[in-house]
Amino acid sequence: MKLHSWGRYPVTESRLHVPRSRDAIDRLLRPAADKAAVIARGLGRSYGDSALADDVVQMLALDNLQSFDEDTGHVRCAAGVSLATLLQVFLPRGWMLPAVPGTRFVTVGGAIASDVHGKNHHGAGTFGDHVLALSLLQASGEIVQCSPTLNADLFNATCGGMGLTGIIVDATLALRRVPGSAIVQQTVRTANLQEVFSRFEEHSGATYSVAWLDCLARGDALGRSLLYLGEHAEDGGYLAPRSGALSVPCNAPAFLLNRYSMGAFNALYYQRRTDPLARQRIEADSYFFPLDGISHWNRLYGAKGFLQYQCVIPQDAALSGITRLLQATSAAGKGSFLSVLKKFGAANAHWLSFPLHGYTLAMDFKFERSLLPFLEELDGIVLDHGGRLYLAKDARMSAETFRRSYPRWEDFQALRLASGADGLFNSRQSQRLGL
Ligand SMILES: Cc1cc2nc3c(=O)[nH]c(=O)nc-3n(C[C@H](O)[C@H](O)[C@H](O)COP(=O)(O)OP(=O)(O)OC[C@H]3O[C@@H](n4cnc5c(N)ncnc54)[C@H](O)[C@@H]3O)c2cc1C
Repeated sequence: MKLHSWGRYPVTESRLHVPRSRDAIDRLLRPAADKAAVIARGLGRSYGDSALADDVVQMLALDNLQSFDEDTGHVRCAAGVSLATLLQVFLPRGWMLPAVPGTRFVTVGGAIASDVHGKNHHGAGTFGDHVLALSLLQASGEIVQCSPTLNADLFNATCGGMGLTGIIVDATLALRRVPGSAIVQQTVRTANLQEVFSRFEEHSGATYSVAWLDCLARGDALGRSLLYLGEHAEDGGYLAPRSGALSVPCNAPAFLLNRYSMGAFNALYYQRRTDPLARQRIEADSYFFPLDGISHWNRLYGAKGFLQYQCVIPQDAALSGITRLLQATSAAGKGSFLSVLKKFGAANAHWLSFPLHGYTLAMDFKFERSLLPFLEELDGIVLDHGGRLYLAKDARMSAETFRRSYPRWEDFQALRLASGADGLFNSRQSQRLGL
């Protein structure tokens, strides 16, 4: 069947398997000799080709909650459980996931494999930093337990390892108690990139922070943004996130998104708040998952799909690097609806984890032929500033760019060779990156 992930680019011809038990996965992998490219898949919310291969093992039928300790907040669940389910079950009881990405429609397996980050990375680290243990089905057919102290290399390679060490079967996570599910949000309007950086630093003690940035603004307004700071409300009220009501029914015609319509949208979005320091109480879903309210919003980019370009630039070089990226984007008139800027805390011990101390910028681009050379130009800027690209969003980075920016790639590949993973667990992305 034809398969793609959230960006709808690329599209592959794949065999999709949805096993209902561990034994079924095992049967599917044997004999391994007739398969060379098998990859696990969750909800397909990665943007590019990391969850695409000849044989794709979608883990959604393995979705049971196995245990919960009410005193510690430790939950054990199968890898196909979604973060939406965990929030639905545990948020009304006062327990929050310690790190959530911008959509709740991702699985625990996918969140670990991409070592996802949220709006609180500067304080809480990644999703994988709160994984106490996991079970991994290896190429040998053996299920191995690992944790930060047990088989630590395998654990550090698997958190952020994009499914390339094996299939995560289940995991134990540490949830965090929160005083209320609602978020008290403060909105700070900033005139340009320099100012938004200053405000991020000034508010580095905020639990959550994220800026939505107008990436088509130029000159003195380059990087003008709305910075959203968030704290959990202290009122003890708990509501699970609601499901989305709106849906984009079909592919939008490609001409709908051009530099003029996007520029107008960005300007309107930026202008919609006149109060420079607005404070309001909003539900968790509005703060954490604003796009989940519109199903299939990825169809807005038309039938050819889109790419998300997400990079991180180390702290000292971040202002200059992101200025250059925005200048290049604005000059090319290729900007996206809205771009997202976040502050990251320190990197962790996971070998291919994306975050490092600095700033991350994410921009969406409608797919068109001229896009690929333009993104290579952006890659050059990122590398010049010591940064790297996020594998969960990538569909086109070169093997050279990957190797220059992920210093532990050789250890990762050596572990894959030693465990036999390289002969079985491969995705379109790993083949492109030379892993
Ligand atoms: C609207 C939107 C907002 C987002 N915001 C953020 C954000 O703020 N921060 C962030 O970090 N990410 C963000 N993402 C990206 C998303 O969180 C990651 O791509 C995540 O990995 C998707 O999980 P999934 O279950 O859909 O996995 P898939 O997309 O299906 O797979 C992603 C990777 O995980 C591997 N994988 C999946 N399940 C398993 C398993 N059981 N065992 C081993 N490997 C497995 C796959 O092989 C693949 O390499 C966003 C995505 C969207 C669509």
